[in-house]
Amino acid sequence: MSTRADAGKPAPPWQTAAQPPETSDAIQALLAGYFQRLAEDASASRRDPSEAAAQAFRNRWLGRRQGVLQQLHETLLKPAPPAWKKALGQALNLLRREADALAEALEAAARQAAARQRLASEALDITLPGSPGAGRGAPHPLLRVMDEIVEIFAGLGYSRAEGPEMETAFYNFEALNIPPDHPARDEQDTIYLGPGLPGLLLRTHTSPGQIRVMQRQAPPLRVVVPGRVYRRDTPDASHSPMFHQVEGLAVDEQLSFADLKGTLEHFARVYFGTTRARFRPSYFPFTEPSAEMDVECFACGGRGGAACRTCKGSGWIEILGCGMVHPELYRFAGQASGRWMGFAFGMGVERIAMIRYGIDDIQRFYSGDLRFLEQFRD
Ligand SMILES: [Zn+2]
Repeated sequence: MSTRADAGKPAPPWQTAAQPPETSDAIQALLAGYFQRLAEDASASRRDPSEAAAQAFRNRWLGRRQGVLQQLHETLLKPAPPAWKKALGQALNLLRREADALAEALEAAARQAAARQRLASEALDITLPGSPGAGRGAPHPLLRVMDEIVEIFAGLGYSRAEGPEMETAFYNFEALNIPPDHPARDEQDTIYLGPGLPGLLLRTHTSPGQIRVMQRQAPPLRVVVPGRVYRRDTPDASHSPMFHQVEGLAVDEQLSFADLKGTLEHFARVYFGTTRARFRPSYFPFTEPSAEMDVECFACGGRGGAACRTCKGSGWIEILGCGMVHPELYRFAGQASGRWMGFAFGMGVERIAMIRYGIDDIQRFYSGDLRFLEQFRD
């Protein structure tokens, strides 16, 4: 018997399919609508980084009595025929883990916001004249986006590391499996620091952070490395001689490409609210295999077509490069090769910000134009 409260709910999956699914993607798809709602709820909750909002989010999803997970347990898992219980149980577990990770990220963001507020209220500078009120500054949009990216990975247990902007060719190239005669060096218009500083250059990517972290710390490790990078590019709407990247590295005894996908799909869900992603084969000297990750266009819902400027009609947006850490890197970092398996990824902060906010010209970030910058104020 269907009641008014059930109206609009999908029929239980065992009424519409003969067999429970077996692949993890298909199992997850059993609750696709809930994953989507979860991502949307997390996005909305992030706008208010308070402990109350984080707690409300946790209660909505994980509350012992009224939480969505508990309700699904009662209304979907309990009445399921025995053959379906395993698949549904797995799907519920995935949803529970995702909800828990998102709740933790929200709680971390709330703690940070509270700490910032405390610091701001305790700061006392007797040398300054009275409060300038509305004229007070705000974080630059790029720093803000970079922090938001780092925060999502912090919720997954990643710590934050930084490396020097002035690098040696060893860390920037050789240790990343790019020997002196490798064509990948030609593609990076490197800024060398000249005769007074032989062998030094401005890092062309944040990837040297992978080696520096592994030299300091034996796996298992999970780390993100945000920072500025430099290339001898002529400034135009999509190039700048200085820009920002966030590098990520996870190394353990048994990490697989599935872990890489799960991690980056989680990032895309939280940051862009998209539920579908695809990985295209690619090449980087320091990962093998390598891939570029696209997310379904959140502006047109993946439909594409000439009208969508965000994805230029393809329905997909490229957001980052990634892959399994090349075995040679462990050797360069002084770790035993053959024992560790890990993955790495790198994304351009400007690119992520431009996609997220629909910004058409990278130069706006550096122009210092307050009319642009003030749009990113809280
Ligand atoms: Zn689109």
